[in-house]
Amino acid sequence: MSYGLIVADVRKGTFDERNLDLIGFCNILEVDAYILLPKGDYDVDLSYFKRVIRLNMEEADFLNPLNIGAIVEKTIEKFGRPSIIIFSSSSSGMEMASYLAGYFNVPIITDINGLSKEEKVFFKSCYSEKVYAHLRLKNEGFSVLTIRSGSFKQHANKKCEVTETEEMDPPTLSEKRSFLGYVEEEKQEIDITKANFLISIGRGVGKKEEIAGYEELATLLKATLSASRPVIDKQWLPKERQVGTSGKTVKPKVYLAMGISGAFQHIAGMKDSECIIAVNKDPEAPIFQYAHYGIIGDMHKVRDKLKELLKGL
Ligand SMILES: Cc1cc2nc3c(=O)[nH]c(=O)nc-3n(C[C@H](O)[C@H](O)[C@H](O)COP(=O)(O)OP(=O)(O)OC[C@H]3O[C@@H](n4cnc5c(N)ncnc54)[C@H](O)[C@@H]3O)c2cc1C
Repeated sequence: MSYGLIVADVRKGTFDERNLDLIGFCNILEVDAYILLPKGDYDVDLSYFKRVIRLNMEEADFLNPLNIGAIVEKTIEKFGRPSIIIFSSSSSGMEMASYLAGYFNVPIITDINGLSKEEKVFFKSCYSEKVYAHLRLKNEGFSVLTIRSGSFKQHANKKCEVTETEEMDPPTLSEKRSFLGYVEEEKQEIDITKANFLISIGRGVGKKEEIAGYEELATLLKATLSASRPVIDKQWLPKERQVGTSGKTVKPKVYLAMGISGAFQHIAGMKDSECIIAVNKDPEAPIFQYAHYGIIGDMHKVRDKLKELLKGL
């Protein structure tokens, strides 16, 4: 049976939840999951994997993309060729994956969020979810793939009866680039990831002067105000309020999206919310595909009506 080589998504000694998507992906393809892990006391259930390859190297060296080619080469020498090498679509995963594909001169598909096993086709959304690309690999050898977070974790439900653990010394490490340290985020006043109820406003808000009305609505609903990227880019709200791939990932009980179209960079940050309500004047807005409830209409009118009702209580 061929195997899928997972390059673990690790950071500061933690094993990221995104790794579950990589395990789920291997399960769907019915390939044994092997994982490459650096030194460290990671909180991970090893029974997901057929083989765990512990590298005698620090996390920082492991995350250095200049080292990954030689690491995989050594892995192939020892265990044979995998059918796929998979990374998560995190910033470090994307960086390492592209280096690796270049190193071996093999195909790469990034940000996969679906697949048809029978037709051997991988899916990915492009252009803010407007295009759904179907991609088939032509080569007979192995390929490098990156997986979008949240796409396959529900399939990480198979445990191996026997997990083999191997230690491997790293190859000579690259001296061209080294890890200097992590830069901590500035302390934030509001943590939107902890909120139970988020009201998120998008470009549809139109102008800065409208925002005060949404802050008022948030207060009345005991909710927290967050936003899509255009609102943050215009500096109408601070960066700490941004939801999405380059902002925060949130999972509130209720996510009320107002004037947000539903670009994948935004969806990736809120799709696991328990209840999604979307307000948008465009009935074709992609956000409605993810919403449990939707209102087609003007967000300001919905805001003002809600305020009126809440004040009357
Ligand atoms: C590398 C990268 C990272 C990114 N990271 C993020 C990220 O972290 N978070 C993020 O959000 N985006 C991110 N983006 C941007 C993303 O691609 C979209 O451009 C962005 O999410 C669009 O925001 P929006 O939905 O508010 O605006 P738009 O796509 O312009 O949508 C506005 C919506 O408002 C509706 N509307 C307008 N007026 C009204 C009204 N009066 N009432 C009701 N509805 C109205 C419109 O119908 C439309 O659907 C990123 C992009 C890149 C390239």
